[in-house]
Amino acid sequence: MAERICQPITVCPHCLSNSKAVKTNQVTRMYREAVYRCNNIECGAVFKVAMTPISMISPSAIPHEEVVLPVSKQSNSAQKQLDFTTEGETA
Ligand SMILES: [Zn+2]
Repeated sequence: MAERICQPITVCPHCLSNSKAVKTNQVTRMYREAVYRCNNIECGAVFKVAMTPISMISPSAIPHEEVVLPVSKQSNSAQKQLDFTTEGETA
């Protein structure tokens, strides 16, 4: 099964309509900016969004020394789900 690629969508801060990323820029390893355009033609807002990783759900197999992020609580439940799936597949 092919991996599904998610188009980042956010809502316009003014009219709350879906907005589409029209330009992105990786500023640093830990910081990315994107320009979004509101899909509501009556609004027409264009705005900038900041993106930064805030926690790790699954650790990297090739960690970078400058990247220090807390481990998300979700990682425990994700690992338990993985363990359960693995157990079910081998039983
Ligand atoms: Zn809008």
